[in-house]
Amino acid sequence: MSGVLDRLIHELSAGALQVIDLSRPLGPETAVIELPPPFAPSPGVTVEEISHYDERGPAWYWNRLAFGEHTGTHFDAPIHWITGRELPDNACDTIPADRFLGTACVLDVTAEVATDPDFLLVPPLIEAWESDHGRIPAGAWVLLRTGWSERTDPAAFLNVGEDGPHSPGFHPAAVELLARERDVLGLGVETVGTDAGQAGSFEPPFPAHTIMHGAGKFGLASLCNLDRLPPTGAILIAAPLKIVNGSGSPARVLAIVPA
Ligand code: MN
Repeated sequence: MSGVLDRLIHELSAGALQVIDLSRPLGPETAVIELPPPFAPSPGVTVEEISHYDERGPAWYWNRLAFGEHTGTHFDAPIHWITGRELPDNACDTIPADRFLGTACVLDVTAEVATDPDFLLVPPLIEAWESDHGRIPAGAWVLLRTGWSERTDPAAFLNVGEDGPHSPGFHPAAVELLARERDVLGLGVETVGTDAGQAGSFEPPFPAHTIMHGAGKFGLASLCNLDRLPPTGAILIAAPLKIVNGSGSPARVLAIVPA
Protein backbone atom coordinates (compact mmCIF):
# COMPACT_ATOMS: atom_id res chain seq x y z
CA MET A 1 0.00 0.00 0.00
CA SER A 2 1.09 3.53 -0.71
CA GLY A 3 1.46 5.61 2.41
CA VAL A 4 0.28 8.75 0.68
CA LEU A 5 -3.03 7.14 -0.37
CA ASP A 6 -3.58 5.75 3.13
CA ARG A 7 -3.01 9.23 4.49
CA LEU A 8 -5.31 10.80 1.92
CA ILE A 9 -8.18 8.51 2.86
CA HIS A 10 -7.52 9.03 6.57
CA GLU A 11 -7.39 12.81 6.29
CA LEU A 12 -10.56 12.91 4.19
CA SER A 13 -12.47 10.78 6.71
CA ALA A 14 -11.05 12.76 9.63
CA GLY A 15 -12.07 16.03 7.98
CA ALA A 16 -8.53 17.37 7.75
CA LEU A 17 -9.06 17.45 3.98
CA GLN A 18 -12.32 18.50 2.32
CA VAL A 19 -13.81 17.92 -1.11
CA ILE A 20 -15.22 21.10 -2.65
CA ASP A 21 -17.65 20.84 -5.56
CA LEU A 22 -16.70 23.45 -8.17
CA SER A 23 -19.62 22.50 -10.45
CA ARG A 24 -22.90 24.32 -11.08
CA PRO A 25 -26.17 22.38 -11.41
CA LEU A 26 -26.80 21.14 -14.97
CA GLY A 27 -30.41 21.42 -16.13
CA PRO A 28 -32.91 23.31 -18.27
CA GLU A 29 -32.08 26.52 -16.35
CA THR A 30 -28.38 26.34 -17.27
CA ALA A 31 -27.32 29.45 -19.21
CA VAL A 32 -25.70 28.70 -22.57
CA ILE A 33 -23.29 30.91 -24.49
CA GLU A 34 -24.91 33.03 -27.21
CA LEU A 35 -23.14 33.42 -30.56
CA PRO A 36 -24.05 36.12 -33.07
CA PRO A 37 -25.41 35.06 -36.50
CA PRO A 38 -24.33 33.42 -38.76
CA PHE A 39 -22.70 31.11 -36.18
CA ALA A 40 -24.65 28.02 -35.14
CA PRO A 41 -26.04 28.33 -31.61
CA SER A 42 -25.59 25.73 -28.91
CA PRO A 43 -28.87 24.30 -27.63
CA GLY A 44 -29.87 24.54 -24.00
CA VAL A 45 -30.26 21.50 -21.79
CA THR A 46 -33.28 19.27 -22.34
CA VAL A 47 -34.17 16.44 -20.02
CA GLU A 48 -36.79 13.95 -21.20
CA GLU A 49 -38.01 11.11 -19.04
CA ILE A 50 -37.53 7.61 -20.40
CA SER A 51 -39.42 6.11 -17.47
CA HIS A 52 -40.32 7.08 -13.90
CA TYR A 53 -41.38 3.95 -12.00
CA ASP A 54 -44.33 3.66 -14.36
CA GLU A 55 -45.60 1.55 -17.23
CA ARG A 56 -42.54 2.57 -19.26
CA GLY A 57 -40.32 1.04 -16.57
CA PRO A 58 -42.08 0.04 -13.37
CA ALA A 59 -39.01 -0.18 -11.12
CA TRP A 60 -36.68 2.36 -12.65
CA TYR A 61 -36.28 6.08 -13.37
CA TRP A 62 -33.99 7.51 -16.05
CA ASN A 63 -33.77 10.36 -18.51
CA ARG A 64 -32.66 11.13 -22.02
CA LEU A 65 -30.37 14.19 -22.12
CA ALA A 66 -29.57 16.65 -24.89
CA PHE A 67 -27.12 19.55 -24.77
CA GLY A 68 -24.07 20.96 -26.51
CA GLU A 69 -20.69 19.69 -25.36
CA HIS A 70 -19.87 23.14 -23.94
CA THR A 71 -22.72 23.50 -21.48
CA GLY A 72 -22.68 24.41 -17.81
CA THR A 73 -19.58 23.57 -15.81
CA HIS A 74 -17.52 21.97 -18.57
CA PHE A 75 -14.13 20.94 -19.89
CA ASP A 76 -12.63 22.31 -23.15
CA ALA A 77 -10.34 19.91 -25.03
CA PRO A 78 -7.68 21.22 -27.47
CA ILE A 79 -9.62 19.88 -30.47
CA HIS A 80 -12.38 22.41 -29.63
CA TRP A 81 -10.37 25.10 -31.40
CA ILE A 82 -8.94 25.10 -34.93
CA THR A 83 -5.48 25.82 -33.50
CA GLY A 84 -5.57 22.49 -31.65
CA ARG A 85 -7.20 20.34 -34.31
CA GLU A 86 -4.01 18.58 -35.46
CA LEU A 87 -2.46 17.97 -32.05
CA PRO A 88 -2.01 14.42 -30.73
CA ASP A 89 -4.27 13.25 -27.89
CA ASN A 90 -6.42 16.36 -28.29
CA ALA A 91 -9.94 14.99 -27.73
CA CYS A 92 -12.01 13.90 -24.73
CA ASP A 93 -11.35 10.20 -25.40
CA THR A 94 -7.61 10.47 -26.13
CA ILE A 95 -6.31 12.92 -23.51
CA PRO A 96 -4.20 10.86 -21.07
CA ALA A 97 -6.16 10.38 -17.85
CA ASP A 98 -3.33 11.64 -15.64
CA ARG A 99 -3.97 15.11 -17.05
CA PHE A 100 -7.38 15.15 -15.37
CA LEU A 101 -5.68 15.60 -12.01
CA GLY A 102 -3.65 18.69 -11.19
CA THR A 103 -2.83 21.34 -8.65
CA ALA A 104 -4.57 24.71 -8.83
CA CYS A 105 -3.38 28.31 -8.55
CA VAL A 106 -6.27 30.65 -7.75
CA LEU A 107 -5.93 34.30 -8.75
CA ASP A 108 -8.55 36.47 -7.06
CA VAL A 109 -9.71 39.51 -9.04
CA THR A 110 -13.16 39.73 -7.46
CA ALA A 111 -12.66 43.33 -6.30
CA GLU A 112 -11.54 44.50 -9.75
CA VAL A 113 -14.42 42.74 -11.51
CA ALA A 114 -16.95 44.27 -9.11
CA THR A 115 -16.23 47.67 -10.66
CA ASP A 116 -15.36 46.51 -14.19
CA PRO A 117 -17.18 43.53 -15.73
CA ASP A 118 -14.72 43.62 -18.67
CA PHE A 119 -11.71 43.31 -16.37
CA LEU A 120 -8.78 41.39 -17.88
CA LEU A 121 -5.96 39.61 -16.09
CA VAL A 122 -2.65 41.07 -17.32
CA PRO A 123 0.93 39.80 -16.83
CA PRO A 124 1.88 42.27 -14.03
CA LEU A 125 -0.97 40.86 -11.92
CA ILE A 126 0.31 37.33 -12.49
CA GLU A 127 3.79 38.42 -11.45
CA ALA A 128 2.41 40.19 -8.36
CA TRP A 129 0.54 36.99 -7.42
CA GLU A 130 3.73 34.99 -7.88
CA SER A 131 5.68 37.32 -5.60
CA ASP A 132 3.20 36.42 -2.85
CA HIS A 133 2.62 32.73 -3.59
CA GLY A 134 5.55 31.51 -5.67
CA ARG A 135 5.92 30.81 -9.36
CA ILE A 136 2.98 29.07 -11.03
CA PRO A 137 4.27 25.52 -11.53
CA ALA A 138 4.21 23.74 -14.86
CA GLY A 139 1.13 21.54 -15.20
CA ALA A 140 -1.02 23.62 -12.82
CA TRP A 141 -4.54 24.82 -13.46
CA VAL A 142 -4.81 28.60 -13.28
CA LEU A 143 -8.24 29.52 -11.94
CA LEU A 144 -9.52 33.08 -12.28
CA ARG A 145 -11.68 33.90 -9.28
CA THR A 146 -14.03 36.71 -10.26
CA GLY A 147 -17.16 36.24 -8.16
CA TRP A 148 -19.06 35.84 -11.43
CA SER A 149 -20.67 32.58 -10.30
CA GLU A 150 -22.78 34.60 -7.85
CA ARG A 151 -24.74 35.74 -10.93
CA THR A 152 -27.36 33.00 -10.78
CA ASP A 153 -29.77 34.89 -13.05
CA PRO A 154 -28.97 33.79 -16.64
CA ALA A 155 -29.23 37.33 -18.08
CA ALA A 156 -26.83 38.70 -15.46
CA PHE A 157 -24.52 35.72 -15.94
CA LEU A 158 -24.28 36.16 -19.73
CA ASN A 159 -24.44 40.00 -19.38
CA VAL A 160 -25.08 40.63 -23.07
CA GLY A 161 -25.38 44.26 -24.20
CA GLU A 162 -26.01 45.76 -27.63
CA ASP A 163 -22.30 45.47 -28.32
CA GLY A 164 -22.06 41.86 -27.20
CA PRO A 165 -21.31 40.13 -23.90
CA HIS A 166 -19.40 41.79 -21.08
CA SER A 167 -17.59 39.43 -18.72
CA PRO A 168 -14.04 39.21 -17.33
CA GLY A 169 -11.18 37.11 -18.61
CA PHE A 170 -7.57 37.08 -19.73
CA HIS A 171 -5.55 39.63 -21.73
CA PRO A 172 -3.83 37.91 -24.71
CA ALA A 173 -0.40 38.64 -23.16
CA ALA A 174 -1.47 36.86 -19.96
CA VAL A 175 -2.55 33.82 -21.94
CA GLU A 176 0.79 33.81 -23.80
CA LEU A 177 2.68 34.00 -20.51
CA LEU A 178 0.70 31.19 -18.90
CA ALA A 179 0.78 28.90 -21.95
CA ARG A 180 4.38 29.41 -23.10
CA GLU A 181 6.40 30.49 -20.06
CA ARG A 182 4.49 28.75 -17.27
CA ASP A 183 3.35 25.70 -19.25
CA VAL A 184 0.09 25.47 -17.29
CA LEU A 185 -2.41 22.64 -17.67
CA GLY A 186 -5.16 25.08 -18.57
CA LEU A 187 -7.34 28.00 -17.53
CA GLY A 188 -10.47 27.80 -15.38
CA VAL A 189 -13.09 30.53 -15.02
CA GLU A 190 -16.45 31.26 -13.41
CA THR A 191 -17.87 32.73 -16.63
CA VAL A 192 -19.69 30.90 -19.45
CA GLY A 193 -16.45 30.42 -21.43
CA THR A 194 -12.74 30.80 -20.79
CA ASP A 195 -12.52 33.97 -22.87
CA ALA A 196 -13.69 37.41 -21.81
CA GLY A 197 -17.04 38.57 -23.18
CA GLN A 198 -15.41 41.01 -25.59
CA ALA A 199 -12.60 38.66 -26.64
CA GLY A 200 -13.86 38.35 -30.22
CA SER A 201 -12.26 41.76 -30.83
CA PHE A 202 -8.90 40.88 -29.23
CA GLU A 203 -5.68 40.15 -31.14
CA PRO A 204 -5.73 37.21 -31.52
CA PRO A 205 -9.48 36.79 -31.14
CA PHE A 206 -10.50 34.51 -28.25
CA PRO A 207 -6.93 34.13 -26.93
CA ALA A 208 -7.89 31.74 -24.11
CA HIS A 209 -9.07 29.36 -26.84
CA THR A 210 -6.72 30.26 -29.72
CA ILE A 211 -3.47 30.24 -27.73
CA MET A 212 -4.30 27.72 -25.01
CA HIS A 213 -5.75 25.02 -27.25
CA GLY A 214 -3.04 25.63 -29.86
CA ALA A 215 -0.56 24.80 -27.09
CA GLY A 216 -2.45 21.58 -26.24
CA LYS A 217 -3.93 22.99 -23.04
CA PHE A 218 -7.39 22.79 -21.55
CA GLY A 219 -10.19 24.99 -20.31
CA LEU A 220 -12.76 24.83 -17.52
CA ALA A 221 -15.78 27.14 -17.66
CA SER A 222 -18.69 27.99 -15.37
CA LEU A 223 -16.88 26.97 -12.19
CA CYS A 224 -18.20 27.99 -8.77
CA ASN A 225 -17.00 27.94 -5.17
CA LEU A 226 -13.55 29.25 -6.12
CA ASP A 227 -13.79 31.39 -2.96
CA ARG A 228 -13.44 28.15 -0.98
CA LEU A 229 -10.02 27.34 -2.48
CA PRO A 230 -6.65 28.43 -1.12
CA PRO A 231 -4.41 30.42 -3.52
CA THR A 232 -2.21 27.33 -3.87
CA GLY A 233 -2.28 23.72 -2.77
CA ALA A 234 -5.70 22.50 -3.89
CA ILE A 235 -5.83 19.37 -6.04
CA LEU A 236 -8.34 19.51 -8.89
CA ILE A 237 -10.10 16.53 -10.41
CA ALA A 238 -11.58 17.66 -13.74
CA ALA A 239 -12.46 15.01 -16.29
CA PRO A 240 -14.72 15.21 -19.33
CA LEU A 241 -16.94 12.35 -20.43
CA LYS A 242 -15.02 9.98 -22.70
CA ILE A 243 -16.87 11.16 -25.81
CA VAL A 244 -15.28 9.76 -28.98
CA ASN A 245 -13.57 12.70 -30.70
CA GLY A 246 -15.34 14.95 -28.19
CA SER A 247 -14.43 18.65 -28.07
CA GLY A 248 -15.46 18.95 -24.43
CA SER A 249 -18.18 17.92 -22.05
CA PRO A 250 -19.97 18.89 -18.91
CA ALA A 251 -17.81 17.80 -15.98
CA ARG A 252 -18.11 17.34 -12.26
CA VAL A 253 -15.10 19.37 -11.16
CA LEU A 254 -13.91 18.62 -7.62
CA ALA A 255 -11.16 20.12 -5.49
CA ILE A 256 -9.42 18.55 -2.50
CA VAL A 257 -8.36 21.23 -0.03
CA PRO A 258 -7.08 21.45 3.54
CA ALA A 259 -9.98 22.02 5.95
MN1 MN B 1 -16.17 25.52 -23.81
